Amino acid sequence: MLTHTLDVAVVGAGPYGLSVAAYAQAEGLDVRVFGRPMNAWDRHMPVGMKLKSEPAASHLADPARAYTLEAYCGLYGLEYAYGSPVPVRRFVEYGRWFQEMTSRDTTVDAEVTEVRSEGGGFVLTLNTGEQVRARTVVLALGFLPFARVPASLTALPASLLAHSCQVNDLSDYAGMRVAVIGAGQSALETACLLKEAGAQPQVIARGKQLRWNTVPVARRSLLSRLRAPDSGLGTGWRSWLWAKAPSLIPFLPSSYRRHIVRTTLGPAGAWWLRERLEGVDVLLRAKLLHATTRDGGAELTVKSRGHKETIQVDAVIAATGYTVDVRRLKLLEPSVRAAVRHVAWAPLLTREFESTVPGLFMVGLASAPTFGPVMRFVLGARFAARTVTPALVRAARQRGRDGRSPQTVLSGTNER
Ligand SMILES: Cc1cc2nc3c(=O)[nH]c(=O)nc-3n(C[C@H](O)[C@H](O)[C@H](O)COP(=O)(O)OP(=O)(O)OC[C@H]3O[C@@H](n4cnc5c(N)ncnc54)[C@H](O)[C@@H]3O)c2cc1C
Repeated sequence: MLTHTLDVAVVGAGPYGLSVAAYAQAEGLDVRVFGRPMNAWDRHMPVGMKLKSEPAASHLADPARAYTLEAYCGLYGLEYAYGSPVPVRRFVEYGRWFQEMTSRDTTVDAEVTEVRSEGGGFVLTLNTGEQVRARTVVLALGFLPFARVPASLTALPASLLAHSCQVNDLSDYAGMRVAVIGAGQSALETACLLKEAGAQPQVIARGKQLRWNTVPVARRSLLSRLRAPDSGLGTGWRSWLWAKAPSLIPFLPSSYRRHIVRTTLGPAGAWWLRERLEGVDVLLRAKLLHATTRDGGAELTVKSRGHKETIQVDAVIAATGYTVDVRRLKLLEPSVRAAVRHVAWAPLLTREFESTVPGLFMVGLASAPTFGPVMRFVLGARFAARTVTPALVRAARQRGRDGRSPQTVLSGTNER
């Protein structure tokens, strides 16, 4: 049982949470990471998926750079090469290895159900019933709280409709007709995996055509690289800037920042998916009007090229993305949530990731409206961990010195 106040409670044990913990621990802070390591990648992405990001853009971050994906692959004799996509299972195992190496004794495999302010710090309630005190809290919740489903689908019951983050083993859909809504990597890969699992997917997308990323070229001429440099976010000066200089983005007007996040790296499939999509029915320029239940399945009404048509399916998967919205941060006790100031529901963060609730920090997707598109990807984890840690050190020292956080009083037993 913990009998003291933590310096830092990190909520979420994905790439960002584990990276922040590794950096903060290296500064001597007393840290715990709450959550099941790599849970979102293990349970909320399709089995058989591959990472779209290049291996070199898929490292978790520790200050000594000892536990990179490259180091992991080298240790276990696994392929690590430009242009060779990383299977999701390998990435989950890599993340868990990183956690073992950096936070084995400081990870608590439990969900945080509430964060409330008390005595100049925070009290976190876990789903085990245990309560923990911390001087600072880092929310590294990833994409799960922000799943977006279009209003046109919400009349469907949960038995017929799933957001793409709710599906894991696509063989559950074998033999079924499945509408996949969307045109991004998630929609296109889900459709391929459905076909390969023996289902009949139909992609329904608003765009005029599907967009595909180009095949990466390992050796490019100097001129070509000058014209369009490579970065972990892709090729081109804009991607390079957003990947290399997230610290500049908070200086831009917030409307422009939102524009960047909305328009950079729009929906597109990975180059290696294109052939696999052959044989999948794709309906383009299709506006989904509404959806109802019929004969035990779903009937979708869409408008495509000026005509209305109805489509009968056995299930619908909405691969319709994620929108950052502070109202979705249900674990924050209402008075804490109300104190998080926001712009268009995206949290206002300082240049060190602190929200308007002193001591409450947010990294990962929730920070993309402040620091730009790199925060949507594993690539941003090092910048986030490196930037937030000095602020955590200062806040923990300040609050420790004030001595206002009373001694931790814990109910429940299962501290790890
Ligand atoms: C289908 C799909 C494919 C993707 N492919 C790529 C890719 O190839 N490359 C890339 O860089 N990015 C990819 N992304 C984006 C990816 O999600 C992020 O890059 C990455 O997960 C960010 O790490 P994170 O730690 O912020 O979030 P996450 O990995 O989502 O981790 C957050 C963790 O917090 C946990 N959590 C949430 N609430 C609580 C709570 N209350 N208590 C305890 N734990 C909690 C969640 O279970 C989760 O495990 C993909 C996203 C999706 C949806």
